[in-house]
Amino acid sequence: MGDQTRFDLPQSRLPKAWYNLNADMPVPMVPPLHPETKEPVTPEFLSVLSPMALLGQDVSPDAEIEIPEPVREIYRLWRPTPLFRARRLEQHLETCAHIYYKYEGVSPVGSHKPNTAVAQAFFLKDEGGKCFTTETGAGQWGSALAMACNFFDLGCEVYMVRVSYDQKPYRRHVMESFGATVYPSPSMNTAAGQSLLEANPDHPGSLGVAISEGIEAAVTSGGEKKYSLGSFLPHVLLHQTVIGQEALEQMEMAGEYPDVVIGCAGGGSNFSGIAFPFLRENLRNQRTTRLVAVEPTACPSLTRGTYTWDNADVIGMAPIIKMHTLGHTFIPPRIHAGGLRYHGMSPQVSALVDSGHIEAQAIDQVDTFEGGLMFAQTEGILPAPESNHAVRAAINEAVACRETGDEKVILFNLSGHGNFDMAAYGAYSDGTLERYEYPESEITEAMSHLPEVDFPG
Ligand SMILES: *Cc1c(COP(=O)(O)O)cnc(C)c1O
Repeated sequence: MGDQTRFDLPQSRLPKAWYNLNADMPVPMVPPLHPETKEPVTPEFLSVLSPMALLGQDVSPDAEIEIPEPVREIYRLWRPTPLFRARRLEQHLETCAHIYYKYEGVSPVGSHKPNTAVAQAFFLKDEGGKCFTTETGAGQWGSALAMACNFFDLGCEVYMVRVSYDQKPYRRHVMESFGATVYPSPSMNTAAGQSLLEANPDHPGSLGVAISEGIEAAVTSGGEKKYSLGSFLPHVLLHQTVIGQEALEQMEMAGEYPDVVIGCAGGGSNFSGIAFPFLRENLRNQRTTRLVAVEPTACPSLTRGTYTWDNADVIGMAPIIKMHTLGHTFIPPRIHAGGLRYHGMSPQVSALVDSGHIEAQAIDQVDTFEGGLMFAQTEGILPAPESNHAVRAAINEAVACRETGDEKVILFNLSGHGNFDMAAYGAYSDGTLERYEYPESEITEAMSHLPEVDFPG
């Protein structure tokens, strides 16, 4: 392959179907439970929240789910995304490993999130819906959904975690530019927000709180609004599999096959997007690629959380899910700048970590930013703080190869660029970014608030 650095697929190779892991899932899954009855949720309960097509995808046994043409038409604005070989990073590390990355930062809002936002907006419009409510942390998901709703002429109501709303106005302006309405969460807009603000007027908010508000706003809208989630759910992971399907073909163009595939994990969607098509090859075709999900030491749900039943939100409006969790009362530490702050983890990723099909690692934020800067200085792209977790894990793998002489092929997902996250990079350069490991005492405390569930599993 000489010195080829960039591997592009023609637009004609844009995937025609999403890959549905349900068809090959090697371990049994348990259903989500109703937060009050603690019995499996009914379709009626869920249909108040979500478009029916998405609920159907969550339980579909079909390996391939066709991507509707209007969704592909929008995907073509930035897909297929490029795959790069990070030759300059390899040289800098003096490693014999080959490092590849799939770059999702070329999407209009700079991350992988439009892959599902566009699909969700299409299905809502298709079913005659009018408006999505949602939560957002730093605003990446909110920007993606605002853009998608704008394309399909839908309303978009965003509950944005208050610390980010106050400290990161730029993504809010992106959302508003696409016509979305943005509220700081907790807000006075919902009963959930009001009760939290009464208890603590300075409540910083969390994704778990914002999810409660987004759900409440949908449930009390008399059917006018539905609720959209940007990660975690099976249909979200499904929509992201365009990433890994393209990467499989691009690795073939490069004449290599990855020994290890790495992604950062917040709710699990970009990791699954790149990893599930390779997991299919492991399960069906005896490939042995290691699949590594990387999380922050400040929010270590996979590596230090418990695999058990917990509420998906703070107030108890969302279903109870079997997952890796730090407890739904988890409030992320304010000093943590690296994103990936959700207390739980996608049920599919959780089950596969539990079964050993997926590995999990936690990396400190200072080390992730160090990796991100090394990547920027060699490859020229400043990664999103979230993506820095994958970058650092890939660097660690490549450094290990330098020592063992192993010519491993490493592929990671660069889930987004960091052009809106300069305050975090500033803190790193100024030396004010601190190391942080989530304290064991907090984990133990949060575990005492888990819901009591009798359901088997
Ligand atoms: C939202 C986001 C993540 C984390 O979400 P996942 O669902 O775990 O992928 C990672 N990287 C970027 C750039 C994001 O915007």
